[in-house]
Amino acid sequence: MVQRARRAVVFTGAGISTECGIPDFRSPGGFWTRFKPIDFSEFLASEDTRLEAWRRFLAIREAIGDVEPGPSHRAVARLAGMGHVSHVITQNIDGLHQASGISAERIIEIHGNATHAKCLSCGLRHEIDWVKDKIVATGRAPRCTACGGIVKSATISFGQAMPEQEMADARAATLNADLFIAIGSSLQVFPAAGFPVLAKQNRSPLVILNREETGLDGLADLVIHADSGPLLGALMGRMGAA
Ligand code: NAD
Repeated sequence: MVQRARRAVVFTGAGISTECGIPDFRSPGGFWTRFKPIDFSEFLASEDTRLEAWRRFLAIREAIGDVEPGPSHRAVARLAGMGHVSHVITQNIDGLHQASGISAERIIEIHGNATHAKCLSCGLRHEIDWVKDKIVATGRAPRCTACGGIVKSATISFGQAMPEQEMADARAATLNADLFIAIGSSLQVFPAAGFPVLAKQNRSPLVILNREETGLDGLADLVIHADSGPLLGALMGRMGAA
């Protein structure tokens, strides 16, 4: 299927980055077993909640440390370079697809990116180290240097609107796909998990590669319950691209 594909879309979730040392959300030891997510409305409503959200964000960043793309990110980049994959739609916020060398125009981040922060009013970019320094110096959540607006990591929280351009791009890529491969996602978070459903409705073959069962296994043409790194390594070997 991969060999025949010319416009495959690879749709990734937190599971593709666990081999890099970033825990996922729903597996034992994942973020959700330790932290209840802070809803966007709660973040907007209270200075104390914003400070708590930033403290958690910085603690997770500290615990994870410097991360590098893993074997799965590299295999996907290789498949894009070989002309089989047109786009990667990622729910991940870790920037590891970019770091794996796929050209930026092929990557669609539908839940944003945690490698920087943004003002919610004027959109000005702020660096995470600047946020950290501000919190250490003032004990308060930072405000935008240009307009005084609320600064938030450039990620999409629960309850926050999805980014319009990225959702439109992801839809277009999905409708153009000749194969749709979901890797490392429990396929429980909507609207993101709507893309594999859309691909299938559009008659694209759907492959799901995930360690455990997902919410959409019944819909797929091929379901592989395995760790993505070894499986994709074997695929690359079969394709003579190991
Ligand atoms: P999820 O935690 O709901 O699901 C991850 C799935 O990946 C699980 O079903 C797990 O069994 C599977 N998995 C774990 N390691 C695997 C491996 N090595 N090979 C194959 N499968 C593996 O994550 P989700 O579906 O992405 O949804 C949660 C939301 O949280 C998303 O928005 C996600 O991007 C975000 N999140 C992102 C990161 C990140 O950027 N790295 C980390 C945690 C959560």
